[in-house]
Amino acid sequence: MALPPSPGGPPLKRPPVAPTAVEPALSWRVASPVCTVYFRGMNRLSRRTFLRATLATTAAFAVLPRRATATDELTGKIMTVLGPIGPGELGRTLAHEHGVVDFIGAEKARRRHDSQEAFATILAHLEKLKQLGCRSLVECTPNYIGRDVALLKRLATASGLHILTNTGYYGAAGNKFLPRHAHTESADELADRWLREWRDGIEGTGIRPGFLKLGVEKGKLSELHVKLVRAGARAHLKSGLAIAIHTGDGEAALDEMRVLKEEGAAAEALIWVHAQNDGGPIQLEAARRGAWVSLDGFGAKRRDRYVEWLSAFRKENLLNRVLLSHDHFWSVEGSETISLKLHSGGEAPFQSVWTSLVPALRENGFTQEEIDRLTIKNPAEAFTLRRRAQ
Ligand SMILES: [Zn+2]
Repeated sequence: MALPPSPGGPPLKRPPVAPTAVEPALSWRVASPVCTVYFRGMNRLSRRTFLRATLATTAAFAVLPRRATATDELTGKIMTVLGPIGPGELGRTLAHEHGVVDFIGAEKARRRHDSQEAFATILAHLEKLKQLGCRSLVECTPNYIGRDVALLKRLATASGLHILTNTGYYGAAGNKFLPRHAHTESADELADRWLREWRDGIEGTGIRPGFLKLGVEKGKLSELHVKLVRAGARAHLKSGLAIAIHTGDGEAALDEMRVLKEEGAAAEALIWVHAQNDGGPIQLEAARRGAWVSLDGFGAKRRDRYVEWLSAFRKENLLNRVLLSHDHFWSVEGSETISLKLHSGGEAPFQSVWTSLVPALRENGFTQEEIDRLTIKNPAEAFTLRRRAQ
């Protein structure tokens, strides 16, 4: 069940107040004459209160470095649902796909699909994908739209593919997929929720996100969506998770970069998801400024247009900013009898980048190095955990 996170979040963990736990506070007393005088002047009760407060503070500081070290140790790695891997292990990658998606809305969100059915349905396609030489898939279904990380873990284990999942909130589609607290909480509070999933894992599974996924509408960002992007930037600067944003158009993408800049995050932290919705010069402009441009709606029918766009990136020496994918998914349908409906434009899921686009790029003079850049090196760079500050 995709239960909403508790409003206040987990309480700060404190070590039990035991005789051995008192020792560090006492030795600190010896090392701090000012506090020693203060301590001597107290009665027994206030000494106990003082010790308890000191221990709580010590415990809080004891927790912080451990968490910071964990993030630092992961810098330079990629986080999959089965744990961290080196960027060199990622291999050929689809940068934006889905397993199960449920459009029922955040307020009604609960796990409706049969995970076993979803597992059997999707696994067959992942096995075919692996046969085509693909090694990794970035699963972009956010919380409150059917994110099922336990299913992804099973699929990764069974298929042998690397799968990444995400944390963050999706504000596009009229905010239907935003939980109520996203409207009332501050950017810092939202960032804290996402950072808790990053540090502690998602929904008690221990599975950690590999990137942040947000969603915004077209045009200049609304106040609410500015807050989401601000929260994303703040979470990025503490975790190094890339910020993939479902974005209505180029104007919104440039506005996202403005907010990132205000927060001190570099454009390289941003993946402009669905950049194909605003084809042309603005894609190149976003790439020039350093953002990742995700052309993730590929289908064989759109082959010529994609070759045209990629040729423009190539001419401008910007192929190193582009990601490729299909954005295929299975939606949860029905009210009493639940079924899964494939959305892949009538194609076999996850395949045509390899069977149609890559051959078309070769025919149009793209070298193997350039194709590897698009399908291997770029996703490895984009999803590597690294704080990208201004
Ligand atoms: Zn998508």
